[in-house]
Amino acid sequence: MSEKREGAVPHMSAEQFRRLGHRVVDWVADYWARLESFPVRAQVAPGEVLAKLPAHPPEEGLEGEAGWEAVFRDLEDVVLPGLTHWQSPSFFAYFPSNATGPAVLGELLSAGLGVQGMLWSTSPAATEMETRVLDWLAELLALPAGFHSGSGTGGGVIQGTASEAVLVAMVAARARARRVLGRDAEWVAYTSTQTHSSVLKAALISGVARDVADTVHLRALDTDAGYALRPDVLERAVREDLAQGRQPFFVCASLGTTSSGAMDPVPALLEALGRTGFGAAGGWVHVDAAWAGAALVCPEHRALGAGLEGVDSFAFNPHKWLLTNFDCDAFYTRDRQALLDALSVMPEYLRNAASASGQVVDYRDWQVPLGRRFRALKLWLVLRHYGAQGLRAFLRGHVRLAEAFEGQVTADARFELAAPRSLALVCFRLAPRPGEAPEATDARNRHLLERLNASGEAFLTHTVLPGVDGAPARYVLRLAIGAVRTEARHVRAVWERLAALASEG
Ligand code: PLP
Repeated sequence: MSEKREGAVPHMSAEQFRRLGHRVVDWVADYWARLESFPVRAQVAPGEVLAKLPAHPPEEGLEGEAGWEAVFRDLEDVVLPGLTHWQSPSFFAYFPSNATGPAVLGELLSAGLGVQGMLWSTSPAATEMETRVLDWLAELLALPAGFHSGSGTGGGVIQGTASEAVLVAMVAARARARRVLGRDAEWVAYTSTQTHSSVLKAALISGVARDVADTVHLRALDTDAGYALRPDVLERAVREDLAQGRQPFFVCASLGTTSSGAMDPVPALLEALGRTGFGAAGGWVHVDAAWAGAALVCPEHRALGAGLEGVDSFAFNPHKWLLTNFDCDAFYTRDRQALLDALSVMPEYLRNAASASGQVVDYRDWQVPLGRRFRALKLWLVLRHYGAQGLRAFLRGHVRLAEAFEGQVTADARFELAAPRSLALVCFRLAPRPGEAPEATDARNRHLLERLNASGEAFLTHTVLPGVDGAPARYVLRLAIGAVRTEARHVRAVWERLAALASEG
């Protein structure tokens, strides 16, 4: 160890932080400007990045600012080649994960302020800004009054992810059902086969499901031809369980399933549940709108929110398609007491006068961890920077691009749509050739996708959709438009590439 460092902690000075901070922001801005020069999907082999990183931690710290040159070199040589470029305009995989200037600056401010907003008293501004910004979002999405903080019984909170949101909803639901029934029970939760796997994970973590194969306590129900949960199937399942002495307590409906963007018919599901006494026994309906929820900002998509006034919780991810970088899930409930019943614990070291007064919200009681970052800042900056008009223009642009792509798929006889377009998600595939076995069609589609992704020109992912009316399941390609920089030319280019690859065989 060098003599000069012994005993002294080599903090970065304010001036160094200022200069290096500029360099880092410059580097990110340059990265965004260079996005089109990278292959979209990472081209490295397993272990390649690991091998470029020293096996042992440095004994001596960096030599001042000059030492940071090595960091910038490593960003270029080690990190960038090992990335899949989610911000690339030709990234059409999974669902988008938006990173924008205002959001990233909000993240920087949050990190720099470094506060913990676990209790109101640990940073009142973190809590109160979160309350305000979530009310703004509720207004922008035209969510029912019961989800606003002013309702007195409900409100919104930022969770890290939609997975945490559904876990919180599930444990709150069980706490409420226990209170209503006045006893424990053999609890059963319902989803569709198309629901995101986070619901199964929530059932495992909460102990509702014994293991991943427990289809008794977490029932994934069959869907209709459009991959939406069927009210008649749900009603029958609930009645069957009641007849067997089990207790239905939780339904997760999806607005925008991950595979095909299917929308479960919330009003009809509520009606079906109403006929079974589900609600009277404390039953809870959660709506997972992780990706599609953002579209409610546009009045022309508001019909998707029909029935939300009858559900107990709703969650969507601004970190997917609302210009806010990961992580940021907006979770709303109209029964915040149920969250407290399930999640509130008060050790002596957290006791404080404000919490005891009952006049403040302590968001730690609405989530799994204790600590919480000041995530409201980035959402606040995104909403202020873009305004409602900017958000709508952003979403509408992507829906228009998806419509155009859908038109190209339907006009080319070699391809077919595999599901109705949902907002900015198009599921499609190479159509079966006359007499072709389903496995052979799947194989041609897999081959097409692999060649496209290997080219680095664009990145799409696949899913398998169940067969309808006895037909076999199908391997399909998903084009999810949602990256901040995607323009018509990028969508045209990916279509031209797909068409060319289809011609090659
Ligand atoms: N629900 C749906 C419908 C999703 O599409 C996803 C992710 O794509 C999730 C939940 C999980 O999201 P998160 O990563 O926020 O947990």
